[in-house]
Amino acid sequence: MTASRMAPKTAELRSRTALRPDVLAHWYAAAARDLPWRGGGVSAWAVLVSEVMLQQTPVARVLPVWSTWMARWPDPMGLADDTPADAVRAWGKLGYPRRALRLHAAAHRIVTQFDGSVPASVADLESLPGIGAYTARAVAAFAFGARTPVVDTNVARVFARALLGRAHSGPSVTAADRASVEALLPAGPAEAARFSVAVMELGALVCTAGSPSCARCPVRMDCAWHRAGAPAHAGPRRKPQRFEGTDRQVRGRLLDVLRGTAAPVSADDLGRAWTDSEQRSRALVSLLRDGLVEQITDGRFGLAGEGAAPEGSG
Ligand code: SF4
Repeated sequence: MTASRMAPKTAELRSRTALRPDVLAHWYAAAARDLPWRGGGVSAWAVLVSEVMLQQTPVARVLPVWSTWMARWPDPMGLADDTPADAVRAWGKLGYPRRALRLHAAAHRIVTQFDGSVPASVADLESLPGIGAYTARAVAAFAFGARTPVVDTNVARVFARALLGRAHSGPSVTAADRASVEALLPAGPAEAARFSVAVMELGALVCTAGSPSCARCPVRMDCAWHRAGAPAHAGPRRKPQRFEGTDRQVRGRLLDVLRGTAAPVSADDLGRAWTDSEQRSRALVSLLRDGLVEQITDGRFGLAGEGAAPEGSG
């Protein structure tokens, strides 16, 4: 939702009751998924890793990678001691692998600037590589109990429907959106964090983008969109994101080759991953530019930090 769509509504939103914290807390207690990065005894590092992995990636795909990652690197020091290539390998096929590099860089920063402890303030969290406005607030709220608005696409969509009567939120979350959501947070930090995770879970499980299950929604009686008869989206149609045949797919194929070998590989080896040489070259250049891949002096390629392998190896 854009600033113009939500910001002027703050005072009016406060008077609306569609998203009552007590109703949401009750629903969350009964319906929430039992995810390993939630609940007591989970470290701030574990929460941070989960939030980075969950950016644009479904929970089911994150779960096994997160578990393996946390077993290998239970704290930032362990990851910082290993190489960026180790992080990219462990990232597996989660997609958007620059997140692995940034998480590795964040671990370094946490060790060098914060004595190895994940910082608690939103400002310090936002200073870490790969940690944006949403992730910083999610870690501050869920790991440290801060009262701060945690607004991802799920939360934005629930707010748009339940409070504004719109089928969808805007294309991105703005500072004005966060300010509007903050105005609706319960006063207590713990209650505010529970409210945030409950709205997020409602958006993930019930109020989904494509097919909201209003019949089993705890807030349906007060939801503005449901009460209005579920009017169609008034804005431009959203195109589903394609993956097959895109440069993203080619990048993934090239990384698969490099993840599967401990030594640098030749351009011919990479050529077997994708036949269209022009697209393959474009994808490879983008991987080099992103720092995910390096080229050594004999022309072979390796994962980040592995380009300095001794010549002749492999
Ligand atoms: S009633 Fe339907 S549209 Fe409204 S919040 Fe619930 S699932 Fe979403």
